[in-house]
Amino acid sequence: MRRILRTAGRAALDYALPPRCPGCGVIVGEDRQFCLTCWSSLHFLDGPACARCSIPLPTALPGVVVECGACMADAPPFDGAPAAVAYGPVARTVALRLKYGRRTGHARLMAQLMARPLAGLGEGGAGEAMLLVPVPLHRWRLWSRGFNQAALVADALARLTGAAHDPHLLVRARATAMLRGKGRRERERIVAGAFALAPDARARAAGRHLVLIDDVHASGATLRAAARALRRSGAARISALSWARVVPDALMTSNIFDFASLDSDIDAERIG
Ligand SMILES: [Zn+2]
Ligand SMILES: [Zn+2]
Repeated sequence: MRRILRTAGRAALDYALPPRCPGCGVIVGEDRQFCLTCWSSLHFLDGPACARCSIPLPTALPGVVVECGACMADAPPFDGAPAAVAYGPVARTVALRLKYGRRTGHARLMAQLMARPLAGLGEGGAGEAMLLVPVPLHRWRLWSRGFNQAALVADALARLTGAAHDPHLLVRARATAMLRGKGRRERERIVAGAFALAPDARARAAGRHLVLIDDVHASGATLRAAARALRRSGAARISALSWARVVPDALMTSNIFDFASLDSDIDAERIG
């Protein structure tokens, strides 16, 4: 009883507290609203990009389909991997507060800004029905954290856009070592075979456009391993969508992105 009262008390307190900027904590007018400083520091990735991996290609002409050198040399197992924003201090704070600070309301905020790139992915396809598939956590990690942040984002995105959501299509077959500080080949080796399909995945996914959902797209090793597993489901198309993507400075049109400040905690675990 006391616990119920305490929970109710906290809910009332949350209700009474003024909304705060998810980036820096200053008081703002509405829930899930950034202050002007944080909002203007976000770098939206809506410019010209590689047709396969969606890395920004600032010199490409808008509307012209091009692929980056890395994709031409070694095509990734997905068609498009856009993100809402470039990984920077504010994007990082939002992702970390969701993951470690249990600010689950941030999943809705992220979903709101991911809805547009999701719609863009739909336009690029042949009209197959979309199915959102969050990158799964290994069950030990799920038990210790209590939730999978990618599944919360996928669920919020499904509610917002009406797209279908299947959090159990892909499973984590084994826990993976930390990817921090590892080179690309080493990351690929660590995550290879980390994912498996649910036993009845074919019935759920065949002929559909599967969209992997993750919070941060760093090297892409995790997304590639997950997409390779999804390929065996009979899906018509596979793409990936993240909240924030690590984009090298040279590919950014403005210089607001401080690559040197990138903290290793973004891939302290499963982010590849
Ligand atoms: Zn702010
Ligand atoms: Zn590419």
